[in-house]
Amino acid sequence: MCRHLAYLGPAVPIQQLLVEPPFGLYRQSWAPRSQRHGTVNVDGFGVGWYADGDEVPARYRRAGPIWADRSFADLARVVRTRALLAAVRSATPGCADGESAAAPFAAGRWLFSHNGALPGWPERYDKAAAALPPAELLALEARSDSALVWALVLHRLRAGAPPGEALAHAVQALAGHGEARLNLLLTDGTSIAATAWGDTLFHRTEGTRTPEGTGPDHGGSVLVASEPGDDGPGWIPVPDRSLLIADRSGVDVHPIRAT
Ligand code: GLN
Repeated sequence: MCRHLAYLGPAVPIQQLLVEPPFGLYRQSWAPRSQRHGTVNVDGFGVGWYADGDEVPARYRRAGPIWADRSFADLARVVRTRALLAAVRSATPGCADGESAAAPFAAGRWLFSHNGALPGWPERYDKAAAALPPAELLALEARSDSALVWALVLHRLRAGAPPGEALAHAVQALAGHGEARLNLLLTDGTSIAATAWGDTLFHRTEGTRTPEGTGPDHGGSVLVASEPGDDGPGWIPVPDRSLLIADRSGVDVHPIRAT
């Protein structure tokens, strides 16, 4: 199982979100503290972030471990962002290796990550995959379970479903086919939707909106992460089988029912 994280808030260097926290995503690539499956996350990593004035995010992905990439260290130090989604990967059996299988997956203004696995992939999921038109199956970003989950979510988003509904629908469509683990994370740079379904998930909000501080560099921030990046206060665990919806003004969590 991989580890992933999304952030919305005032502009900060990427390094501050991923590398500086003592137990943050960078360290989680070799020493996650609460990962339920797998041990290390060295089969690739990716960061997607939003620059001011451009609703389509940039992505930086690599096939190897995050700590071995000196270019990432430079980038993380100088690039500042108000919205980001990042993941470190532990590939599960049967899934492709390489950069194209590393999250975040992207389409237009969306960034997506899957922390989990579809045991019995791919045979056991042919019925779920049949919900997609052939052209969308041929356009899978990688030969991996996560790319199929992303294609199902994107299909719903393109049909006009709100992000939370698109995630919950994918969980419901896939959970019935076996012991699927489906912690999903989705952002468009202004809101975050996430599911907890088989592994840990936490959120932390900081600050509140004030009359003098409603601009993009003021107001609250929200982090949604597989596990806390530090031992500070404010991390709230998300119950398993839940859907989380967040923006800079708050977080809502609801149960998801299996169908
Ligand atoms: N199963 C996915 C992959 O192989 C996600 C991996 C994970 O969560 N460890 O990429």
